[in-house]
Amino acid sequence: MRLFWVGAAALALVMPASAQTLGDEVKEQMPSLMEIYQDFHANPELSFMEVRSAGILAAEARKLGFEVTEKVGGTGIVAVMKNGPGPVVMVRADMDGLPVTEQTGLPGASKVRVTTAEGVETGVMHACGHDTHMTAWVGVARLMAANKDRWSGTLVMIGQPAEERGAGARMMLEDGLYTRFSKPEYALAFHDAAQFPAGWIGYTPGYALANVDSVDITVKGIGGHGAYPQTTKDPIVLASRIVGALQTLVAREISPLDSAVVTVGSFHAGAKHNIISDEAKLQLTVRSYTDAVRDHLLDGIARIAKGEAIAAGMPEDKMPVVTVQKDEYTPATFNTPEFTEEMAAFLKERFGEQRVVRMPPVMGGEDFGRFGREDKSIKSLIVWVGGVPLAEYDAAKKAGRSLPSLHSPFWAPDAPAVISTATEALTAMTMKLMPKG
Ligand SMILES: [Zn+2]
Ligand SMILES: [Zn+2]
Repeated sequence: MRLFWVGAAALALVMPASAQTLGDEVKEQMPSLMEIYQDFHANPELSFMEVRSAGILAAEARKLGFEVTEKVGGTGIVAVMKNGPGPVVMVRADMDGLPVTEQTGLPGASKVRVTTAEGVETGVMHACGHDTHMTAWVGVARLMAANKDRWSGTLVMIGQPAEERGAGARMMLEDGLYTRFSKPEYALAFHDAAQFPAGWIGYTPGYALANVDSVDITVKGIGGHGAYPQTTKDPIVLASRIVGALQTLVAREISPLDSAVVTVGSFHAGAKHNIISDEAKLQLTVRSYTDAVRDHLLDGIARIAKGEAIAAGMPEDKMPVVTVQKDEYTPATFNTPEFTEEMAAFLKERFGEQRVVRMPPVMGGEDFGRFGREDKSIKSLIVWVGGVPLAEYDAAKKAGRSLPSLHSPFWAPDAPAVISTATEALTAMTMKLMPKG
């Protein structure tokens, strides 16, 4: 289906006067914001290393009169603007790039290379578009500071580290985000989106992104000569059975009406044709929405691994070792349903029905959900902002070709459209939540 596109000129005609003003202010900021974007884009930093990026956000916020605290949960920053009585609204941008070598071939492409802690040399790229998030964060900070006479309350803007490692939100919360600073009544964020046109806004009431767990299974065996299998316990055969049986978790144990994924993404064992190895290693990604389904999957994986080992006649001391990587767990992102609908209606008024679309939930992960889970009274919303240049979107549809996804070395969002839309949307929502008197 070809999607209908409303040009900026057509939109201007239907915008109410107040929206026009904010839109104009965003337009005025764009040349300067694009310079900041180019800088972020050319200088991406990996998770836990976002020192330069955080420094830029901190300096910008300080200039605008925010009270800025750095090194909150590693490289995180918290910028607070108190502006009279009223609610506390938190706006979050994540700051990390990815170990991806950029292949967009664009003039401003990242040329950064690093050697990771694991000793792997790699390019670094903002392949998830967190550079657009940080830039719009600056845009929101500027517009909120410039319009202090139009809102009343406390604005808490945070630059969050290590989203890609599922760690940054937890680290900021553990470092006192809600105790050292005002706890928000509302938490807002956006993520750029690689599947729909630039400047569109997508919203998903309720569960929007999944619980993500990484699980390792070390399957033990008793090694030996490939010609004498009867003297061994072959971990490759056992691990294969485990992989097969794991498929029944989603197919037979979880309700068809619940969402769940168990993917074995890595299977490593053995070194040579004629040797039966003594170990196989599996790496799994496990995804769900509800805590109950998550618990069932994780318990089920341990049960199946052990059960298959018993069936294979493994002795008690050689049971598989199942490890859930607790530090990299990303809880599901849940958009408070009524609040999401309310904000979506508000955004539709501003941007038009065509540009604000309801999106189905996805099984991707995003640690923004932690900010709302911490206290159920917090109303929380992350929206998508489309980043696919319209011409490219149309051409891809026509040719039946798939578009580069987030994390792809080819992901090249229409940054001006993402940044201007996100800046305006987040500023408008924040102001609406903190009405003056
Ligand atoms: Zn990402
Ligand atoms: Zn991301």
